[in-house]
Amino acid sequence: MPENIETLPTSGPSWQQLLAGSIVTPEALSEILPVDPEMLRRVTQKYPMRINPYFLSLVTEKNGPLWRQCVPDIDELTTDPALEPDPLWEEPQSPVSNLVHRYPDRVLFMVSSQCAMYCRHCMRKRRVGPAGQVTDADIDRGVAYIRSQSGVREVILSGGDPLLLTDDRMERLLSQLHQIPHVDLIRIHTRTPSALPQRITGDLVAMFRRFSPLYINIQFNHPDEITLAAATACTSLADAGIPLGSQTVLLKGVNDDPDIMMDLMRKLLKIRVRPYYLHHADPIEGTRHFRTSMETGKRIMAHLRGRMSGMGIPYYMIDLPQGGGKIPVLPDYVERKVASKLTVRNFTGKVYDYPQ
Ligand SMILES: *Cc1c(COP(=O)(O)O)cnc(C)c1O
Ligand code: SF4
Repeated sequence: MPENIETLPTSGPSWQQLLAGSIVTPEALSEILPVDPEMLRRVTQKYPMRINPYFLSLVTEKNGPLWRQCVPDIDELTTDPALEPDPLWEEPQSPVSNLVHRYPDRVLFMVSSQCAMYCRHCMRKRRVGPAGQVTDADIDRGVAYIRSQSGVREVILSGGDPLLLTDDRMERLLSQLHQIPHVDLIRIHTRTPSALPQRITGDLVAMFRRFSPLYINIQFNHPDEITLAAATACTSLADAGIPLGSQTVLLKGVNDDPDIMMDLMRKLLKIRVRPYYLHHADPIEGTRHFRTSMETGKRIMAHLRGRMSGMGIPYYMIDLPQGGGKIPVLPDYVERKVASKLTVRNFTGKVYDYPQ
């Protein structure tokens, strides 16, 4: 058991102060890390950079797993006809701006374009940062749309990162949604517990308690992101009765390795975050250098099953192009299928007949 899980910090810089101290310019970054400012200038003209001091403090190795997630790379400018800014058709499936209605019972509501850091592998690279500005009027229109759609049972707050809204704006939004009779659930998708855990303050947790049932899914991509600060943020949310899930993106040079992935999933369980999805990286323009084959993902999933708690095994998901939605991908366990029996392999590779 972790011994020194502490309560949320009440001293030290606030999350707003940390955010304000972020590295956002090529000049500032090239003074701290060995990177070419001219390369940074070219990339950041297209895609914004923000590396906050907390996440920067975790970057210890050039081109290592944390570096790759936050330091711009010239490969972001590589074009490839197979990659698009919006292959999942989020924009065409938005009945009002900032709200994707793809599935009958739930909507994805992008309430902020800001993030605690700008992940280089982001699947919404087209709209995070200044390019995606979300106004109060956008949020009001989204809420009005949800109110008008009685089939919507769940609202997923996303972005950008919804927890970059101030506590006041978040509270106002949650209470508006909470008052809509057909909305049963609110889910928040955030990276702050891994990218800026100081955002999870006692005030925020106390406010969240009032909007139960509230679910939070967090992006964690590498075991090194599970620091004492991240653990403290997650366990305080869990103590407030908020079920936590993780959404991990399968990323080349970050976590495309069975042992790293198993370490991550085990550490998540210890901080009471239940692995939910492992996302195959989408074919997004500017992220080619992060993409792995689907065989890599299946090999990782096959490695996890049987070797660790089933509670720590996420679904491996691909998101279909043109708004087809997400489907799970499984390792191939079935060898043969005849009328009377299945021939299957177990996690060690041993073959069994299973009667039908
Ligand atoms: C991923 C996604 C959801 C949520 O899907 P779940 O499988 O319920 O996690 C909802 N809407 C859109 C547009 C999505 O991309
Ligand atoms: S926090 Fe999420 S939305 Fe923001 S840059 Fe990272 S992946 Fe994209």
